[in-house]
Amino acid sequence: MHLEYNPMSKSSDKQPRQILGIISSACAERMLTEWVNTDLTDLPQDAKAWERLFRRYPEIPSVSITDMLPYSEANFLPFHHQMEMAEEVAADLARAWESVDLRHFEWYTWRAQMEYEFQAASARHNFLESGVSPENFPNAAAAIIESGEPPQTITPVEAAIFYLRQNRRRALRCPNPDCLAPYFFASKKSQKYCSPECAKPSQRESKRRWWAENRASKTPGTGTSDRRGK
Ligand SMILES: [Zn+2]
Repeated sequence: MHLEYNPMSKSSDKQPRQILGIISSACAERMLTEWVNTDLTDLPQDAKAWERLFRRYPEIPSVSITDMLPYSEANFLPFHHQMEMAEEVAADLARAWESVDLRHFEWYTWRAQMEYEFQAASARHNFLESGVSPENFPNAAAAIIESGEPPQTITPVEAAIFYLRQNRRRALRCPNPDCLAPYFFASKKSQKYCSPECAKPSQRESKRRWWAENRASKTPGTGTSDRRGK
């Protein structure tokens, strides 16, 4: 596909810019945040959560979704391979999100991509199903060699991680300790919390602290004030 983006043109078509010609930035943000927030519970390998993610984003697994879902005994192996891949990628994405500097951020975004690309190449070379065995070494070698180069076809996952790499400053963790989906992309410059709902407790907390401090300085020694704020 030939894609030319000219920010100076007064475009009559409202088509948003596509990352690497593949997906919109809104789509990349949705996919990445749902992916990285999928398994934050203490339950190890919450299969239901991953199944939900794969159904919403069938482009994430490196095998056809009909070969692995519904999650059942018959589909155990392909599903588990994909779940492990998705879990590892999610863990690396979370580490990237948490990174304090560019070096770590770059490291973990590339790790996430390499893990995904290796699994995708493994599926193409039928290495996922057959496991590690001497007969399978050629398939493993082919997958390793192939995943060392940019794939011929750009996938939505590659485009999404590419997008994340270019938007590090907006990839934030919500400071509300009770937040259920703490990894998000900030849409405003000063934004700290993922949503107004999450920001509320802190607004209350800072108001409470302000009152406590000001009251304390005005009426030392007493814990109460006649004029209570409601
Ligand atoms: Zn939040």
